[in-house]
Amino acid sequence: MKAKILIIEDNEQNMYLMTFILECKGYDVLQARDGREGIEAAQKTAPDLILLDIQIPVMDGYAVARELRRCAALSRVPIVAVTSYAMVGDRERTIEAGCNGYIEKPINPDTFAAEIIRFLAPGDAGNGGGTE
Ligand code: MN
Repeated sequence: MKAKILIIEDNEQNMYLMTFILECKGYDVLQARDGREGIEAAQKTAPDLILLDIQIPVMDGYAVARELRRCAALSRVPIVAVTSYAMVGDRERTIEAGCNGYIEKPINPDTFAAEIIRFLAPGDAGNGGGTE
């Protein structure tokens, strides 16, 4: 089964780049552009992984992560925070809010997919994955 990856990101360039890279790797990509839309998309689609920008409209990434963790069906989905300014304590704040990992912008096209894929369960293959 193709893994579904939900990207919650308000910057069109980053959204385009992340979507392009992940689709090339064979993943199904879902997009949301603000916090509320992201939570609704997560509840509706039960993605295998969520990429979460921290600076997004309506509610920030920390609030989104906390709300997703309160939702029983989504309490275990891996959430990877993606943020542009890493200040001291940011990584800790994302983990505290319920994220499993943290990636710094700018997105590096050479390493992005590998950084993301390690948060997916082994069965959640993209291209070249299992035949089951
Ligand atoms: Mn943003």
